Amino acid sequence: MAASATRVGFIGLGAMGYPMASVLHSAGISVEVLDRSEDLSNNFVEEHAQARRLRSVSDLSEDIETVILMLPDSKAVDAVVLGTDGMKGLVDVLPPSALIIDMSSSNPVRTRELAERLKARQIHLVDAPVSGGVKKAASGSLAVMVGGEPEQVQRATSLLNLMGGSVTHVGSVGCGHALKALNNYIAAVSFVSAAEALLVAERFGLDLSLMTDVLNQSSGKNSTTDYKVKQFILSGTFNSGFSLQLMAKDVGIALDLARSTGQPLQLGDQMGKLWGGAAASFKQSIDHTVMYKLIAGREIR
Ligand code: NAD
Repeated sequence: MAASATRVGFIGLGAMGYPMASVLHSAGISVEVLDRSEDLSNNFVEEHAQARRLRSVSDLSEDIETVILMLPDSKAVDAVVLGTDGMKGLVDVLPPSALIIDMSSSNPVRTRELAERLKARQIHLVDAPVSGGVKKAASGSLAVMVGGEPEQVQRATSLLNLMGGSVTHVGSVGCGHALKALNNYIAAVSFVSAAEALLVAERFGLDLSLMTDVLNQSSGKNSTTDYKVKQFILSGTFNSGFSLQLMAKDVGIALDLARSTGQPLQLGDQMGKLWGGAAASFKQSIDHTVMYKLIAGREIR
């Protein structure tokens, strides 16, 4: 069994996957890339001379034993791993003892089910979702939270260290995905509380930029006040790189997780309706920071 892979498959070249695969390529890892968007795959191999483009998982080189996934959700992960619509999945093409590292923010309950199914085929699964956004993805300084059997986590660690500023083994398979969903639930609640506080402050006549500086020196500081208010809201750019649809998905996962444990979330229903309702009302992907305008009742263009 290879202790540290120097050749990997990387599937999902979106806002996060593209810069993460790029970081691996810069570190000398041979990457074979696949995305259902042909443009993204083509751009990647044009920009990265040593990378190889795949048209399907069946094109993976035979000696590849490690595949990283950075896909939207568990539905996409299951499709790529188990196959769909007559297309082969990773389970059909990877050799026994191969390792799949799911860095997407997937549903932890489904992750555990998938790991069980893979075990029957002697394929290992480690969940390693990330926090930090596009900027930290590009600088290889993401916070990575890892779930899995110690031996398999050890096997993934050198690759994860290239993409992460911190890599923490948080428990058995699924625990990384559980922690990530709960992290984003906290971020979703924080976003709404910060947005509402700013709107009240604006009506009272406070300067929102000055207020944000003070909040960031005070107990109200959170990820929204620190990384989002000035950067993406007050600047008017609303382009954090993390979509409203993905945030709504993560809130939904946290609510499912809470239900599965029997622990109620007092703000859960409200958060589910607010983020889920907003996501459903847009056909196109839209940045999650636009929630500020929605709460303010402002027009979205
Ligand atoms: P994204 O939508 O930009 O990228 C997902 C990519 O997966 C797309 O390029 C899409 O074409 C591809 N894809 C979807 N289904 C596929 C399939 N069946 N086969 C091949 N490719 C497929 O999403 P993102 O922002 O890069 O996020 C990826 C994951 O990371 C999500 O789970 C998200 O919740 C999580 N995440 C995102 C951020 C962020 O700031 N954007 C931060 C932390 C975690």
